[in-house]
Amino acid sequence: MLTPSAKAELEKQQYRIVGDHSAVKTCGWTKNMINGEGGCYKLKFYGIMSNQCMQMTTSISCANRCTFCWRGYKAPVSKEWKWKVDDPEFIFQESVKAHHNLLVGFGGSAKANKTAFAKSKEIKHVALSLTGEPIIYPRMNELLDIFNKNGVSTFLVTNAQYPEQIRDLHPVTQLYISLDAPEKELLKEVDLPLFPDYWERLNMSLEYLSQKKQRTCIRLTIVKGVNDSLHEKYGEMILKGMPDFIEVKAYMHVGPSTQRLTKENMPLHEEIVVFSKELSTSLPGYEIVSEHIPSRVVMFAKKKYQKEGIWYTWIDFPKYHELVNSGVEFTSDDYCKKTPQVGLSGKGTIDNMPEKVREKYLKEHPEAYAFVDEKTQELDFYGP
Ligand code: SF4
Repeated sequence: MLTPSAKAELEKQQYRIVGDHSAVKTCGWTKNMINGEGGCYKLKFYGIMSNQCMQMTTSISCANRCTFCWRGYKAPVSKEWKWKVDDPEFIFQESVKAHHNLLVGFGGSAKANKTAFAKSKEIKHVALSLTGEPIIYPRMNELLDIFNKNGVSTFLVTNAQYPEQIRDLHPVTQLYISLDAPEKELLKEVDLPLFPDYWERLNMSLEYLSQKKQRTCIRLTIVKGVNDSLHEKYGEMILKGMPDFIEVKAYMHVGPSTQRLTKENMPLHEEIVVFSKELSTSLPGYEIVSEHIPSRVVMFAKKKYQKEGIWYTWIDFPKYHELVNSGVEFTSDDYCKKTPQVGLSGKGTIDNMPEKVREKYLKEHPEAYAFVDEKTQELDFYGP
């Protein structure tokens, strides 16, 4: 799939290419958590242990050239699969190996938290979202089965250009669709899609998403001054997909996206909160549940995830694996558990906080720098 120079370029950026079309890269939050410096927003919202998470893709190629994406424009794009198809067991084994090799340096690091590093040797989650469009890998269902059998939860993100693949997917722990604009022309401007019927593909994908039995999520990436209005239209599109969760996230001004957008296009966390509050007026049946200030993201959930005033947006991972491997029909209702911390803080963006306010915030929000005790489900510190 890659030319030797494109491969060398990616390796320089700490990607590890697996076989012909897959890649692994250590997520910054995985490193943070091993260093005792906090987990990602998916820890706070859903209970993902960032130190036990592998970030990868099964297809470096994509059918879009999204303006906000951290990929460079040299990365391969294609509508159809044109490459050799690697064996799913090979992808699983080699990706795990590559992930561990990337983490090896933490073994000798004085900064690393020993317990967190020891735990990282057991991968419990895979984020199929690194780059490209993972869902076009023709044997994706076999790979999902392998993750399910090995007790690895799957968070799969798709750009909604392959509706049939979404319809036919085997169970995914949490399936994401990116909704980058709620209008046809704006979507073209933001995503630069290859498919001429990109709008119909998105709409069909939302339709299939609404039929999924396991957990689903729609993610909005907000680029200030570009796709940060049209709340009602976003609401209409979201209600077509009827996801369990909605994430409204700020565009991050990093990587090659900096050649296409400016720093001013990156919303502050406060702006994401304001946008989310306005969006909530078009979303009956949903409520804002939580936020993660370092990632500038706000999470909504369907009201059914609140029982007697308590939110249950976390995932009961052992239960998910028991169900998915038992062959019985099951739904998103069957593997949720209590969310330890919810609510909006009313605080600003973490980088803009004065030092003392930031210290206080981090004390009040230990999830940013804590682990969760597996027995009690209480937030707990391993490290110093
Ligand atoms: S879930 Fe995503 S952000 Fe969190 S550790 Fe995994 S790859 Fe990183």
